[in-house]
Amino acid sequence: MTTNDTVDALIIGAGPCGLVLAIDLRRRGLTVHIVERGETLGPGSRGKGIQPRTMEVFDDLGVLDAVLAAGGPYPIGMIWRDGQRQGEHRMFEVGEATEAAPFQGPWMLPQWRTQDILHARLRELGGEVAFGRELLSIAQDPEGVTASFASGPDLRARYVVGADGGRSTVRQRLGIGMTGEVVDPHPILVADVRIRGLDRDNWHVFPPHGDGDGFMAICPLPGVDDFQFVAQFPAGSTCDLSLDGIRAVIAARSHLAAADVTDVSWASSLQPRAALADRFRDGRVFLAGDAAHVHSPAGGQGLNTSIQDAYNLAWKLAAVLRGEAGAALLDTYEEERLPIAADMLGLSSRIHRGEMRRGKETQQLGLGYRFSSIVLETRQGVPDDVLHAGDRAPDGRRDGIRLFDAFRGPHWTLLTVGPEVPLPPLGVPVARVREYDVYGNGVFLIRPDGYVGWAGDTAAGLMSYAASVGVEALVYSE
Ligand SMILES: Cc1cc2nc3c(=O)[nH]c(=O)nc-3n(C[C@H](O)[C@H](O)[C@H](O)COP(=O)(O)OP(=O)(O)OC[C@H]3O[C@@H](n4cnc5c(N)ncnc54)[C@H](O)[C@@H]3O)c2cc1C
Repeated sequence: MTTNDTVDALIIGAGPCGLVLAIDLRRRGLTVHIVERGETLGPGSRGKGIQPRTMEVFDDLGVLDAVLAAGGPYPIGMIWRDGQRQGEHRMFEVGEATEAAPFQGPWMLPQWRTQDILHARLRELGGEVAFGRELLSIAQDPEGVTASFASGPDLRARYVVGADGGRSTVRQRLGIGMTGEVVDPHPILVADVRIRGLDRDNWHVFPPHGDGDGFMAICPLPGVDDFQFVAQFPAGSTCDLSLDGIRAVIAARSHLAAADVTDVSWASSLQPRAALADRFRDGRVFLAGDAAHVHSPAGGQGLNTSIQDAYNLAWKLAAVLRGEAGAALLDTYEEERLPIAADMLGLSSRIHRGEMRRGKETQQLGLGYRFSSIVLETRQGVPDDVLHAGDRAPDGRRDGIRLFDAFRGPHWTLLTVGPEVPLPPLGVPVARVREYDVYGNGVFLIRPDGYVGWAGDTAAGLMSYAASVGVEALVYSE
């Protein structure tokens, strides 16, 4: 049995990636169906670090206030040995917020809470996750895709996105390989626990003693009484996820007693792996998030890269579905995101192996698409260290305008900096700023995902670029 209606997009998996994609498509007025195998959103604090670039995305998607209210800054690390505090240890470098980059350092929020906030926003936009719907198979034809589930009717969509996590059924059904390596043979146990006798001002770190035990860290989570407990185990061992198992590890590797651990609300284990799908697309079906790339948790890149995938894909899918751009625009999703994901794998593996610190690169503010076939830099001789087409469009407060306010929403934005220049009738919101050295003088067409799509000294040539990427028809219903 198939439901009669063909929806614009069917999203498999209601993790952070699927939820962001659903929100971004819904706010563009598309019909979206999002299915989730579980009966609820996934539990656990897992990816708890929201990077600054993701905070900017959350601002655009209308969830920033909720994320700020529910989360908190990372506490400073405290090294313990033999029950004694050895001193503070900063896990990463945090710079100062600036006019151009208003968020600095990761913001901590348990992943289950992030998902709850995204789910609430999706519902506000009239979307609904269909729980208890496990995808089993997909079949494509020239007009669309039919998806079949473990129970319930088949669904029909013009496009499908597999946001169904590292073991992606969608990826397997498409026969897309995943190439990668084990980053570390030592398995890691991650759990949400209640513990007596530890303060909530520090991220408590217990280095290995030797004798086969491993690294252990216990981090207070904001807004709840839980701590996130992380422990590394010898290669080849199986992690015991029970309350007693976790109590035994904490008692053996710290000054705490087993009975100080009063509750374990969620526990899981993982083998740190870095792997990349060979392709991010097959016809009308896309892979996004962990379905396309899995990382070591070190450096907090997994959840953030997954959200950025969704944010890159949503406006392109919308432009094609609404007939504003040709289907070739969809090719640029893999073109832009696969190299970024490949770099992220390298970054998180190096951080995991202790070869580099968690520095600026982890914030994802420097990522961009200068290499992309859909960005166009028409100015001659712009030095590499100056803002180019393809770069993230920075924030700023000039001439009574806040740039992120001007960019917020599903539309493109035309920004001019410097003396007034004539602009073509593009039909997009225009922001004019007299001077802002972060941009330099020029005309900048900002993509819906906040990157500079086109840059020029004047607007000459802008119209033909705009037509090729679907800038027109900007009346979106929110
Ligand atoms: C134990 C653990 C600890 C982690 N720690 C960190 C960390 O510290 N920092 C960090 O950045 N990242 C961490 N991660 C990774 C982070 O959680 C992921 O990168 C992030 O969840 C990816 O989001 P996603 O939406 O792509 O996939 P997921 O969050 O995996 O969501 C996929 C969803 O699809 C659903 N699904 C799967 N198959 C089907 C199907 N056939 N039909 C329907 N639905 C399906 C799943 O139930 C799930 O809800 C951790 C992950 C794990 C498992």
